[in-house]
Amino acid sequence: VTDRTVLALDVGGTKLAAAVVDETGAFRCVEQVPTPQSSTAEAVWDACSALLRRCAVQVVEVAGVGVGCGGPMRWPDGVVSPLNMPAWRDFPLRERVSGLFPGVPIRVHNDAIAVAVGEHWRGAGQGTRSFLGMVVSTGVGGGLVLDGRLVDGASGNAGHIGHIVVDADGPICGCGGQGCLEAIARGPAIAGWAVSQGWRSPGATARELALDAEQGDGVALAAFARAGRALGIALSSAIALCDVEVVAIGGGVSQAGPPLWEPLQETLRRHLRLSFAADSRVVPAALGQRAGLIGAAAFVLGDRYWAVGAG
Ligand SMILES: [Zn+2]
Repeated sequence: VTDRTVLALDVGGTKLAAAVVDETGAFRCVEQVPTPQSSTAEAVWDACSALLRRCAVQVVEVAGVGVGCGGPMRWPDGVVSPLNMPAWRDFPLRERVSGLFPGVPIRVHNDAIAVAVGEHWRGAGQGTRSFLGMVVSTGVGGGLVLDGRLVDGASGNAGHIGHIVVDADGPICGCGGQGCLEAIARGPAIAGWAVSQGWRSPGATARELALDAEQGDGVALAAFARAGRALGIALSSAIALCDVEVVAIGGGVSQAGPPLWEPLQETLRRHLRLSFAADSRVVPAALGQRAGLIGAAAFVLGDRYWAVGAG
């Protein structure tokens, strides 16, 4: 039997998910639980470990485990400190998973990179040589596949498109910088800007804003237009720099429809004038919530998604 079957684990601030994935990208078992909140490091690990064990009993032989986890992390060591999971600071996730499944590859990477790899392997970027996968939700992240291979960068952080500067005089970003894409286009920033313009009251969400935009609310439409333009500016630069064929955008904000996508595409048409760049396409992601698990599996199943010698 040459079929290889791996486990995939997706570690996020609100949910933990695990699955059995085969070489075609098909799932055999998906287990999901809410992330234990205000909890100890060991309690969060126990929840991950239980998910992995429940999936492992479905498999004769586990060929490896791929993990997508919120950053920052030390890569490829898989020592993680996810911003949205205060219980884990310098948590040795890769070592712990390795303790459960000794002797097989354990590959831990940034969750946004897992989504990008999933979309390239089995989603909107399938078959492309040059691809950028993005997530626009509470944060803005991404991953780059260039010349058919995942680009890691010096420290495993290549693809951080959320921190491309789109307005040098713009709002302060969570990273400490100013005018980053994420400071304008992440969901809470879009809703916050709308509130500052008189829409509803603080605490209202980007999802509610999207519903109001659909109904034609002027402030809601302006808020998504502002975010769409910021995305268009960032992508114009990224596409020109990397000669990207396809960009796929997933995450909750990407589901806002024409109020976001029309200003985004119009901005691209205005700024992307070189012929190679004008042929590129920016499209919605295809895999939805499963992209992260599929990408995590691909870290083990697809050689082009893991750097030689990185473990
Ligand atoms: Zn930033």
